[in-house]
Amino acid sequence: MKKVGLLGGTFDPPHLGHLLIAEEVYEQLKLDEVWFIPSGEPPHKEKASVSARDRVDMVESAIQDNHHFSINTIEVNRLGKSYTVDTIEALLKEYPNNQFYFIIGADMVEYLPKWSRIDKLIEQVQFVGVKRPDYELNTTYPIIALDIPELAISSTEIRKRLANNRSIRYLVPEKVLEVIKERKLYESS
Ligand code: ATP
Ligand code: MG
Repeated sequence: MKKVGLLGGTFDPPHLGHLLIAEEVYEQLKLDEVWFIPSGEPPHKEKASVSARDRVDMVESAIQDNHHFSINTIEVNRLGKSYTVDTIEALLKEYPNNQFYFIIGADMVEYLPKWSRIDKLIEQVQFVGVKRPDYELNTTYPIIALDIPELAISSTEIRKRLANNRSIRYLVPEKVLEVIKERKLYESS
């Protein structure tokens, strides 16, 4: 059985917090791989954000030098919003020999009771919760809770900085910064 960590996210843009949690969980749980799963386009524009294509390319740039990280575009290739429970069901069908670990930050752990069909989902996949500044890692769900170095970095904060012409160097991988600059992403948000 291959042990595979899954890190779902909007990655709008991907940052060092994402890479750190993926690497820490990989190491602590002795996983074989971690797959990054960018979300698809929301059916209605919920907020100023870049296209799924741009987010996929930024994730690829972010992980390119890490051999145990890869990208899975299952959600991007589906129309409309994907629920995690549907994604996991599809992945289990496609990769019956993998054991999946779904990695979430503490902000997402707080929301678990509101996730679609959470009772089914919790039986299908092992959740791994990691600390995040300002959030408690408390839940009654049977998750693996891991202590990791906490980085106070969020995509929201990065978008704000870009809107205010502030530097995001050392918050995102250099390769991601290059994509953002080349394509002039986030300039009008
Ligand atoms: P946004 O501010 O747009 O919500 P984000 O920084 O939360 O962006 P997401 O793409 O929403 O990034 O997050 C994907 C996953 O990574 C989520 O489970 C989230 O909790 C986790 N995560 C993101 N940043 C951190 C961080 N700094 N520490 C711990 N977990 C994180
Ligand atoms: Mg988030």
